[in-house]
Amino acid sequence: MLYIGCHLTSSKGYENMAKEAISIKANTLQFFTRNPRGGKAKAIDPEDAARYRETAEANHFGKIVAHAPYTLNPCSAEKKTREFAYMAMKDDLERMEYVPGNYYNFHPGSHVGQGIETGIEMIAAMLNEILTPEQTTIVLLETMAGKGSEVGGRFEELAAIIDKVSLKDKIGVCLDTCHVHDAGYDIVNDLDGVLEEFDSIVGLEKLKAIHINDSKNPCGARKDRHAKIGEGYIGKEAFARILKHPKLQGLPCVLETPQETLAGYGEEIKMLKEMCE
Ligand code: FE
Ligand code: FE
Ligand code: ZN
Repeated sequence: MLYIGCHLTSSKGYENMAKEAISIKANTLQFFTRNPRGGKAKAIDPEDAARYRETAEANHFGKIVAHAPYTLNPCSAEKKTREFAYMAMKDDLERMEYVPGNYYNFHPGSHVGQGIETGIEMIAAMLNEILTPEQTTIVLLETMAGKGSEVGGRFEELAAIIDKVSLKDKIGVCLDTCHVHDAGYDIVNDLDGVLEEFDSIVGLEKLKAIHINDSKNPCGARKDRHAKIGEGYIGKEAFARILKHPKLQGLPCVLETPQETLAGYGEEIKMLKEMCE
């Protein structure tokens, strides 16, 4: 089963996102839990969430992905920024229980010169403070391009965070194709090798979701500029291999390409599905 969808805006609620997804023949979706630049979250309407759950079930949706704000940085040097990270993740995870059993993805953080080891410690400390045995949401560390002082550009860094987290069944990884490519993993010419490396370092059972993005920069550029599928350095053929890979079946695949319209995402989804036939 191919679960494919795109990033949608959540401002009109969960049910509206499900309808938008269905209109472009998507069967998963992603959304920001609050303004991506930070700030306060909109209150959840329990009835809207219930209508979403019904619609998603009736249309055989895969798991969906909530995306934390970019400003969430548990390894900031600023106390205020760290406090926002704890508050936002705790609050987002409580809200996610209205759509139980899905994923919450976040950028692990930027250590801003404090060093990668310190960054890893601080990220794990937040997760150990916030994750609960009762939660039904699995929190995903997103693979990063490794620009600036980003933590998570190497599989070893993600493995080190997971290693320090007590509730390991509440944590997973979301692989962003543009990010891993920009971080230097050659998913175009050696997808099997990259997946083997991921498996030996992190464990493929930890891989829960994929962000499907082409890249405006060559492999190893450490840039993180997304391109539309087929308009970047990764290319259509590589995406067909990714989506058809036997080890990647059943994972929600979410487009975060620079499309201006919902119809644009619809075209991209149609093209990707055709490539997989
Ligand atoms: Fe992201
Ligand atoms: Fe991403
Ligand atoms: Zn990105």
